[in-house]
Amino acid sequence: MQKIRKGDLIQVMVGKDKGRQGKVLKVLPKQMEVVVEDVNKVKKHHKSRGPNDPSRIIEVVKPLNWSKVQLVCPHCHQPTRVGIKINTQGKKVRYCKKCQQEIDS
Ligand SMILES: [Zn+2]
Repeated sequence: MQKIRKGDLIQVMVGKDKGRQGKVLKVLPKQMEVVVEDVNKVKKHHKSRGPNDPSRIIEVVKPLNWSKVQLVCPHCHQPTRVGIKINTQGKKVRYCKKCQQEIDS
């Protein structure tokens, strides 16, 4: 079961974007990476391919490894590690290791 999913709010824990928060736009399970809105942007030079396609610098959002981000708990609003447990309805749910509250309801 994935601990981070599309739509989750995460916080970057390491690197140049440390402390920044953003929404997960995409999860790449094979690479164990996430694409986070407005985080880990890199500038790329785009070369002209014709008169209607001028050379310019574009910003691309690069994926981040899962180990570099933590989910921001919707209950205690802190970046936290996520655990998995079986709830009272027998369903697998994620929970916050800080406040023990279920993240999915
Ligand atoms: Zn919490």
